[in-house]
Amino acid sequence: QAKAPGGHGHAVYDEQMRHAAHSRLRLDSALRDGVARRQFHLHYQPVLDLRTGTWHGAEALLRWRHPQLGPVPPGTFIPLAEETRLIVPLGARVLDEAARQLAEWQAEGTVPPPFVLAVNVSSRQLRAGFVDSVAAALDQHGVPGSSLALELTESVLLADSPGIGHTLADLRALGVQLHLDDFGTGYSSLSYLERLPMDVLKIDRSFVADLTTSTEKRALVTAITAMADALGIPVTAEGVETPEQLALLRELGCRYGQGYLFARPDDPRTTGGLLRATPAYADGAVPEAR
Ligand code: C2E
Ligand code: MG
Ligand code: MG
Ligand code: MG
Repeated sequence: QAKAPGGHGHAVYDEQMRHAAHSRLRLDSALRDGVARRQFHLHYQPVLDLRTGTWHGAEALLRWRHPQLGPVPPGTFIPLAEETRLIVPLGARVLDEAARQLAEWQAEGTVPPPFVLAVNVSSRQLRAGFVDSVAAALDQHGVPGSSLALELTESVLLADSPGIGHTLADLRALGVQLHLDDFGTGYSSLSYLERLPMDVLKIDRSFVADLTTSTEKRALVTAITAMADALGIPVTAEGVETPEQLALLRELGCRYGQGYLFARPDDPRTTGGLLRATPAYADGAVPEAR
């Protein structure tokens, strides 16, 4: 057992450990309970096509409101759900609910083609039966595979599982798009992009955040967009918050944008209303900061 940094004794460290383990255990059972009691729901965040100024799609983002704890952020409960494998049943519900919402929006004309709804998928979910569950969700709600995208992270592609190539090929055979999420935060080996083709690269928010202030970040985003362009893969920038970032991303040829500047993740009613309206920034002009 290592000592805690800063010269704390074992007693303090053990106490902290016990506390962390205890609250983890509590959160773990609360999570289990929450899945059974349907405390989870989806928010949706629109994605703008920076070229046409129209809404291109949206991303489904899972929310957990615990009766006592209040809203628990995904950054806290998703890793725990992955560890405990609760992400498998939870993710199946996310997929089903997203497909249901998509069908509703399509039926009422809220999201005309080529609108694509993206759902985040953890590597733990990508195993036997996953392709069938995607096919079932599409089938049950009558939505075409081409209007669904699955967001995967680099870790999924690098995980040394021989079946992954087949799984992704089967998903693509359903017409489903594959988007590489948080691009740039994982490993820098790009060889898998050739083996496992992606429909969109999503540049991680951390690059966009410092885009206008850090020359290094700007160089990296320039390189990423140039590489994606050479591969013929469109890029989505996530976490766009300022008109300055937007202007620069447009200049670099970034095709899609997502961020608080355009819309925050919100409940289906609010997001549906936004999607039916013309987006701000539709004219391609960069308006004054609001
Ligand atoms: P992600 O897939 O990279 O999602 C983007 C995150 O950035 C979301 O955080 C979104 O709310 C946030 N975001 C979007 N625009 C902005 C912006 O302009 N500024 C800032 N500061 N943040 C912005 P959220 O909703 O907290 O989700 C965090 C992560 O949790 C997601 O990152 C994703 O990895 C995971 N996650 C969420 N829902 C699901 C799900 O249904 N299944 C799985 N497996 N993971 C999920
Ligand atoms: Mg995502
Ligand atoms: Mg992302
Ligand atoms: Mg991210």
